[in-house]
Amino acid sequence: MSCIFCQIVDGSIPSKSIYQDDQCYAFADIRPEAPVHILIVPRAHIASIAHAGREHIALLGHLQWAAAEIARSKGLTEGFRTVINTGENGGQTVEHLHVHLLGGRSLAWPPG
Ligand code: AMP
Ligand code: ZN
Repeated sequence: MSCIFCQIVDGSIPSKSIYQDDQCYAFADIRPEAPVHILIVPRAHIASIAHAGREHIALLGHLQWAAAEIARSKGLTEGFRTVINTGENGGQTVEHLHVHLLGGRSLAWPPG
């Protein structure tokens, strides 16, 4: 299996676990861009949100809910951002769908 996030989900690559349930796994980003930078990934391999089908609609909502739940647990009461990079122009570097949860500082807009 070559997908790095599938290997993180199955434990063969170590990660700093933050949250997990039957549908998703969340872990600390190895190169944090903010004081809180967590990745939430589905346990099932989906290459990107552009590859998601109608059968994934509930899962996509679940990932965003999990991000908000983690933000609450981290005390991000001043706000936070969730980001899904998609494809080359979107800046996606790992081809397994993931939601970035960024918080703990004021985040600029628009993004680069
Ligand atoms: P993206 O560029 O949106 O595809 O995001 C991929 C993210 O995965 C980047 O923020 C990387 O820092 C992060 N990343 C890559 N490898 C690992 C790893 N082994 N553990 C944790 N985060 C990783
Ligand atoms: Zn994968």
